[in-house]
Amino acid sequence: MKLKELGEFGLIDRIKSGVTAPDGMTGIGDDCAVIPQGDGIDLLVSTDMLVEGIHFILDDIKPYRLGWKSAAVNLSDIAAMGGLPVATFLSFALPESLDSKWTDEFFKGYNDISGRYHCTLLGGDTTASSDKVCISVTILGKCVSGKALLRSGAREGDKICVTGYLGDAGAGLKVILEGARRNSDAQALIAMHYQPIPRIEEGLKLAVAEGVHSMIDISDGIGSDLRHVLRASRKGAVVNVNKLPLSDELLRTCRRNGWDPLELAISGGEDYELLFTADPDAEIDIPHTVIGEITDTGRLDWLGTDRDFGGYHHF
Ligand code: ADP
Ligand code: MG
Repeated sequence: MKLKELGEFGLIDRIKSGVTAPDGMTGIGDDCAVIPQGDGIDLLVSTDMLVEGIHFILDDIKPYRLGWKSAAVNLSDIAAMGGLPVATFLSFALPESLDSKWTDEFFKGYNDISGRYHCTLLGGDTTASSDKVCISVTILGKCVSGKALLRSGAREGDKICVTGYLGDAGAGLKVILEGARRNSDAQALIAMHYQPIPRIEEGLKLAVAEGVHSMIDISDGIGSDLRHVLRASRKGAVVNVNKLPLSDELLRTCRRNGWDPLELAISGGEDYELLFTADPDAEIDIPHTVIGEITDTGRLDWLGTDRDFGGYHHF
């Protein structure tokens, strides 16, 4: 079967079927692997790749921002477990035509966002590339043993919560791809696309909060990422689209360009906000918005719209 038909997640399922994680370890299927260290600490490991032409357009993105983003998307996977970042490793395939000023700027951005969390680059690999830039980052983090917030913990009746706004990064990408006018709103959206702030502090607070059951970071839009939680937890959900947190910048830019803010908020991706589920009466001590509820239907239903946003997902 061609990979196009199999799809990214079909391929990951196939890879997963060939391995069994050793007892006590969490392997393929969550934002990080979880590897108990036996001293009250669990090691968290994740890896993410950014490829020119797929994840970024080299002529459009400043190297500082690309460095920032390369670290930020990995830090976000540690945030998604409620973990503390420790260190990263970075592998690069670079065309010889690039300048060392470019790599200097790249590492300024990379180290600026990593440094906020005292997460240091400890190694990597560098090779030549015939054409495109390819960046692969592996991140290590840690959490208190057994306290990582997994995708599989959602319970029926849980409220579904998200941090921040949804759709801004997707709108920023649309501004870039469609050449829309770059006024101050559009610039702010582009910044959300290129320089996301990983929700590390929020993730750490959620990991120790009472009644929080599951978590994922929103890298592909809630339409996809909430489905990962539902599938891993074998649950369904109802989401009220009128509750989705939308920024003024997003709403104004959508009005100006005739774009659909709901489509961007649900399917836009790359917001790197956290989506978590918690007991309905759990006290959550970070800014967040409740967008729906976990059900036992096995379906994802959208309230407040006739549209399907990708439709059902049966487990
Ligand atoms: P995220 O969006 O959080 O980075 P992905 O959707 O990329 O997560 O991956 C989902 C899960 O599949 C993760 O647990 C990841 O480690 C695993 N995975 C993805 N690609 C591969 C691969 N090529 N080999 C093994 N595991 C993979
Ligand atoms: Mg993730």
